[in-house]
Amino acid sequence: MKKAEKIYEGKGKILYATDDPDLLIQYFKDDTTCFNAAKRGVIEKKGIMNNKISAKIFEYLETMGVSTHYVQLVNEREMLIRKAEMLPLEIVVRNRAAGSLCRNLGVPEGLALECSILEYCLKNDRLNDPLVNNDHIRALKIASEKDMEAIKELALLINHLLTKFFLRLNVELIDFKLEFGQCKGKLLLADEISPDTCRLWEVGTGARLDKDRFRQDLGHIEEAYQEVLSRVSR
Ligand code: UDP
Repeated sequence: MKKAEKIYEGKGKILYATDDPDLLIQYFKDDTTCFNAAKRGVIEKKGIMNNKISAKIFEYLETMGVSTHYVQLVNEREMLIRKAEMLPLEIVVRNRAAGSLCRNLGVPEGLALECSILEYCLKNDRLNDPLVNNDHIRALKIASEKDMEAIKELALLINHLLTKFFLRLNVELIDFKLEFGQCKGKLLLADEISPDTCRLWEVGTGARLDKDRFRQDLGHIEEAYQEVLSRVSR
């Protein structure tokens, strides 16, 4: 597999073409942003850890029947992925109150939710990734009805699988973000699943093992990512 030209650079990752038109290389950077890039920094070796953590999680989900864009690891910072037409949506699944849910609705962090919450955000940095509902998505033709039904079902299945996966590692999955793409008529789970995109609390201690350590200046950021990598590698 030959790496070709850069086709996209985001805040945390770079995509490169390859000599196969169906495949891309996804490169994970150490650059870290939050609050829509209002806060920026570098987490040493984060790219390496997130690449490996995402690979483990995609491999697990594939074994459980979830189709993902992941093909294989290329090296420490890069994975080979299937090229997909990305939907302009971020799908957030919440099991406990944290982050923007607490800020927007004034509920205490850690509040247990009666049922999981699914949220959709339009991927648009200029607009601050605004929350949209099914009516916005339908009325503005952001995604098809069929895709939205499939996404809801997949997001809940992934939540069920990942909650169990992390509980076995003594970690509670508080919330996370998913992105999907269309590939040859099929929806694929894309992007990454890592401590950058999930809130992960150690069971018992409540220790934060995710990007909240960076958002809230809690220190020991690299150690937390490393801890997640060690646990998912067990
Ligand atoms: N999230 C993400 N990318 C985003 C926004 C959110 O990966 O652009 C993840 C975030 O890490 C958390 C979940 O989605 O696990 C819910 O995020 P929230 O809306 O609470 O974000 P906050 O504004 O607190 O960063």
